[in-house]
Amino acid sequence: MPPKLPVPLRDRLGRPLESLRLSVTDRCNLRCLYCMPEEDYVWLPRQELLSFEELVRLVDIFAELGVTRLRLTGGEPLLRHNFDSLVAMLGQNLRITDLAMTTNGVLFADQAEALKRAGLGRVTISLDTLQRERFRQMTRRDEHDRVLSAFDAARRAGFTGTKLDAVIMRGENDDELADLIEFGRKNDAEVRFIEYMDVLGATKWSMAKVVSRDEMLQRLERRHGTIRPAAETSSAPASRFLLPDGTVFGIIASTTSPFCRTCDRSRITADGVWYRCLYATNGTDLRKLLRGASQEAADGEIGNVIAEAWRGREDQGAEERASRNHREAFIGIEELRRDPHLEMHTRGG
Ligand code: SAM
Ligand code: SF4
Repeated sequence: MPPKLPVPLRDRLGRPLESLRLSVTDRCNLRCLYCMPEEDYVWLPRQELLSFEELVRLVDIFAELGVTRLRLTGGEPLLRHNFDSLVAMLGQNLRITDLAMTTNGVLFADQAEALKRAGLGRVTISLDTLQRERFRQMTRRDEHDRVLSAFDAARRAGFTGTKLDAVIMRGENDDELADLIEFGRKNDAEVRFIEYMDVLGATKWSMAKVVSRDEMLQRLERRHGTIRPAAETSSAPASRFLLPDGTVFGIIASTTSPFCRTCDRSRITADGVWYRCLYATNGTDLRKLLRGASQEAADGEIGNVIAEAWRGREDQGAEERASRNHREAFIGIEELRRDPHLEMHTRGG
């Protein structure tokens, strides 16, 4: 058992440092409309990506400060070579009680068993449509069959608590709410609909394309009858609901009903920049600190930098965006080309 932690580290709004999202690569094998809608991207230089040892070391430092939940993301995390070895290394940290990943599913079926053996606890698979041609339009890649096979592979490998995340865009896939819930029910995956967010890489975002949580619920009620809120069992950002037949699904309403006041998440890019809000334009360069000093001296020092930054955290990016009268894409393509850290696929969703 890990020793008990001292008083939890809290930011200016009293939010604890508990949940960390670690992006292990900025590369991706899909080009989703809402995340990577452009033809060309500027990538992080390979030599700047953190090694497995550096990633593990950072997680250890964060865990000492209170992080218990770790989600591996990207880009597409399964594009990182020997990803299962990284999972096994991270699994050694006993303070991390929830080790999860988010994947687009393309490469998951082949790796599911190795990931389970390595100690991965839970998986969230992104799937926005059950229609093959639509998938090709929404992702600009013909990988629908492999993504569909990921759910069966997850079950066969023994994963439980699998989630299916679908970003809902008006005019693209908003006619598939009921079908996606049914697919999730048959495949032991809890469906979560995500409102299309004006995050940094979403250069084609407009409010007109957003389907709000209220609208999703109204549409589902017309089809299924009364929907009730489900009892909350976690601090996850999704509000959870029950269909009349007892099927549970969630909606993440970050665009129309943000949850900044309880946000305990922060994110590290694959090259070690730590952001304390999905919408933040400035982060802390931890790679510079990691590569700048000897390990013994630096761990405590890096911990102090992290603790001080967290204590000063005031970010409420999504609420700030929601309070605007006029809302359009957050950051233009030229700025994203100058600094790829601002991209969602770099920062990790
Ligand atoms: N490639 C993996 C995947 O797609 O699952 C992991 C990284 S991806 C950036 C993580 C999540 O961010 C995905 O579930 C994706 O749907 C979500 N995402 C990306 N852009 C978004 C946007 N504009 N609005 C809402 N969700 C978004
Ligand atoms: Fe799609 Fe995830 Fe790749 Fe973004 S990072 S393009 S959401 S698969």
